[in-house]
Amino acid sequence: MSAHHRIRIVAKPLACLAMAFFSLSSHADGTHKHWNYERGHEGPMHWAELDPSFETCGKGQLQSPIDIRQAVKATLPALQFTYNPVPPNLTNNGHTIQVNVPPGQTLTVGDQTYELLQFHFHTPSEEAVNGKRAAMVAHFVHKNAAGQLGVIGVLIQPGKTNAAYAPVFDHLPRKGEHITVDDLQLNLGALLPANKAYYQYAGSLTTPPCSEGVNWMVLKEPVRLGAEQIKTFRRIFNANARPIQPGHGRLIKESE
Ligand SMILES: [Zn+2]
Repeated sequence: MSAHHRIRIVAKPLACLAMAFFSLSSHADGTHKHWNYERGHEGPMHWAELDPSFETCGKGQLQSPIDIRQAVKATLPALQFTYNPVPPNLTNNGHTIQVNVPPGQTLTVGDQTYELLQFHFHTPSEEAVNGKRAAMVAHFVHKNAAGQLGVIGVLIQPGKTNAAYAPVFDHLPRKGEHITVDDLQLNLGALLPANKAYYQYAGSLTTPPCSEGVNWMVLKEPVRLGAEQIKTFRRIFNANARPIQPGHGRLIKESE
């Protein structure tokens, strides 16, 4: 079905790769040290040492991801998504595949309104529930008018091929590629599970600089993706999940 779509692929040099060649230069231009998900000195255990701006990755007390357990039932506001069909705009940033969306896609939670900026994927899922990680997770990253981030986590388990995700998984960009599919619509609302019950807790970005103050909302019901779709992602990113971080007694709420 993708044969007739107009696809524009732009290969961009990665800022991170460029840094690897100029590692002796100063970082006056604001770019950060390269980091990755491997065991070596650029891996998650060493992120905090790679750049002074990454210190929260080591010192933070509200880091993500966490193992979601002992959640407390609470009356949480319903999640109201106003997501519209958008043309997929995919980019491989060297750490994940990210889908950028045009303005106007909103999430309202109680008196907070957030705008969707982008969503991206990790494998396995970063969040665990009662010690178990899912095959993948999609993180829908939103920002409110005050600049605070609200991230919706959608756990992904293997099942039937998921047509709603096909516009993304049929066009996964390789490293350094940016893909725009002009005449194909991605139905954002269909990417979410039917049941919007969720866990809520305070956390952080799961990538450097690991900034805190992120409102995490992880949907309890997973979505299903075909085994082939999951495999297609893993051929590009075999594993891109940060290890589970200490909970430090943080409160995890669960909608009733
Ligand atoms: Zn993420």
